[in-house]
Amino acid sequence: MPAIHEAYPPEIVALRDGLDGFLRQEVIPRHERHAALLDDERRLFTDEGRYHPDALALIREVRMAAARAGYYAMCVPASLGGGGLGHLAWFGGWERVFHRCSEQYWLGHYAISHWAFGPSAVLAQVSPRAREEMLAPMMAGRQSMCFGMSEPGAGSDAMMMKSRAVPDGSGWRLSGSKIWTTNSPYADYCIVFAVTDPERAAQRRGGISAFLVPTASPGFVVERVIRMWGSAGGDEAVLHFDDIRVEPWQLVGELHKGFAIAMLGVNLGRLYNSARAVGQSRAALEKAFEYIKVREAFGHPIAEYQGVSFPLAESAMQMHAAHLMCLNAARLLDAGLPARKEVAMTKAFATQMGAQALDRVIQAHGAIGMTNELHLTEAWQSLRKVNIADGSNEILRRTIAREMLDGDMDW
Ligand SMILES: Cc1cc2nc3c(=O)[nH]c(=O)nc-3n(C[C@H](O)[C@H](O)[C@H](O)COP(=O)(O)OP(=O)(O)OC[C@H]3O[C@@H](n4cnc5c(N)ncnc54)[C@H](O)[C@@H]3O)c2cc1C
Repeated sequence: MPAIHEAYPPEIVALRDGLDGFLRQEVIPRHERHAALLDDERRLFTDEGRYHPDALALIREVRMAAARAGYYAMCVPASLGGGGLGHLAWFGGWERVFHRCSEQYWLGHYAISHWAFGPSAVLAQVSPRAREEMLAPMMAGRQSMCFGMSEPGAGSDAMMMKSRAVPDGSGWRLSGSKIWTTNSPYADYCIVFAVTDPERAAQRRGGISAFLVPTASPGFVVERVIRMWGSAGGDEAVLHFDDIRVEPWQLVGELHKGFAIAMLGVNLGRLYNSARAVGQSRAALEKAFEYIKVREAFGHPIAEYQGVSFPLAESAMQMHAAHLMCLNAARLLDAGLPARKEVAMTKAFATQMGAQALDRVIQAHGAIGMTNELHLTEAWQSLRKVNIADGSNEILRRTIAREMLDGDMDW
């Protein structure tokens, strides 16, 4: 029985079904065939913490197969050659991916272009020459990119960034560092944010610009891959820019107005992480309710103990609310409304409750919940991380409070 009345219009239902078929036929069997590599961190990562080249080839294969099947660029603006679908399709697509694949079949996470690692609305702001150079391989899933905003001294308050682009003839020379830049060790391009007008930046009135920088540029250094949470490698890295020459065609959007570029991805990123929470917690709760019916203790299936079933029921209740919030936020955005407060509420609630749901599912499984076999700890870890990334829980509350202080008291 459907829990939500008419969650999606028929065309998005069909899209989700088609995507599900793609995941089951193209992605999951591929992941299973290569599980010895993909599920064993000792093989998956090199000594420097980078993905093994064979794993990178599989990731590229999935991106390209998804592009051919029409899913990869489904939410990329039509002006760039994408499917032009809106936020509801974006949420619905990602929710399907995370529900079907969770962290177990993580290759599935490459079936849709993430707004910062592949083609998205951000590319509509690049110059005609940049489009010519990068659009085709990016849309085909052959190449990828990353988004360099955070720095060692500038996280939630990105205006504190120190990276500088100093005018030099018709272009600039770029110096500085970035941290936590996801996909940067593997990306072909990085959108780098740097101060171009220190006075305006100090007054918090712009002065920061965005540049499209090929990662092969002389002076672009991936200093080290960051190992998150005991992992042997990963996606995030520390970057260093050593006097990189940047030409006018590499400017993205308007000079000194780089934050407008970052804003293009904010809603997509927050809905993406909310979809991760809803999809992964559904997959985990399904597992838990199967397990507690068959696992016995003290002469009964543990499902008979309310100490086991009630926390799971509570998480189901919370994630149902999160799901409804996501659908609503996506619809508000598709109606052209800013929905700042609603998107912030949705992302904060969904990711916090999602991490808690995973924790409870692990608890209900006992020791086996803590093993690598069930992939629950990886899902918990991924949801815990997004309580920080893409607007931390606190920064989202700050946004909500500010909107309310400005008089938006509707909810
Ligand atoms: C998995 C992951 C991937 C990431 N990927 C990228 C990426 O691709 N590109 C990129 O540019 N960045 C990326 N980031 C960085 C992310 O954007 C920052 O971590 C985030 O902005 C928070 O900054 P910070 O970690 O420096 O924390 P800080 O800003 O130092 O904050 C520390 C703590 O203080 C709290 N805090 C700060 N200000 C306030 C306030 N006004 N009121 C109340 N509490 C406050 C924060 O919420 C946090 O709890 C990623 C982070 C993670 C975890």
